[in-house]
Amino acid sequence: MYLKLKKSLNEFLGLGTLTRVATQQRCVALTFDDGPSPDYTPQLLRILDQHEALATFFVVGEKVAQNPRLIQEMVSRGHCVGNHSWNHPSFPTLRGAERRRQMKQCADILPRQNKLLFRPPFGHQTLRSRLDARRMGYEVVAWTAMAGDWRDHSATELLCNLENKIRPGNIILLHDALFSSSDAGYLDRTATLQAVERLLEIHSDYEFVTVPRLLQMGRPVRVPWYRQGDRAWLDSLKTEDALAIDGIDPSSTAAK
Ligand SMILES: [Zn+2]
Repeated sequence: MYLKLKKSLNEFLGLGTLTRVATQQRCVALTFDDGPSPDYTPQLLRILDQHEALATFFVVGEKVAQNPRLIQEMVSRGHCVGNHSWNHPSFPTLRGAERRRQMKQCADILPRQNKLLFRPPFGHQTLRSRLDARRMGYEVVAWTAMAGDWRDHSATELLCNLENKIRPGNIILLHDALFSSSDAGYLDRTATLQAVERLLEIHSDYEFVTVPRLLQMGRPVRVPWYRQGDRAWLDSLKTEDALAIDGIDPSSTAAK
């Protein structure tokens, strides 16, 4: 009863977070977070092109500033670009003004989009941070399923995680970069790229569409999505720059 009430209140106030679209059509939205990456995003764009697949990229403003041409590439090929904050902090750890600054600073560097999409870093969200996103006019997009591609993984394992998640209306979380990681080896995206390529080959009967397109194909499912990360785990993460300072060159790590 309480959960039902909470759900209705959430819908009434427009505070739901999109997790999928209820549809019979064989379409899926692949989403890629934390980029763009000069090492991996161009390869991914080529793979998507080869399979006539479109995707949604939730980009980090700081990375966009370093790679502005990659954003133009994404948009010119028909992909959608969403806001993933300026430099990927966990929003529940920030004050409201700082959260809004993170979203605005990223928005200011992005090309204009018809639909404003935001994905909270790490998927962490509180009621207050959800209200901030609403105040700024964002649809908050979470996911139906994830590959788990921020940890140690092989392409086969990722594919195995995803294969039965390709279902009508699903939103899949993947990463064409990792903003931060506990291990430099995980920054390598080769396995993710291989898994995506195989996935597109296997599911040629599906249409891979952007999130705004998916929203037109059925009834959006928006749920109360509130979760906070473990502070100790967050503190253990290092950015790519910090891992490089530690003397580990992410690009030299062998693909797993
Ligand atoms: Zn992220």
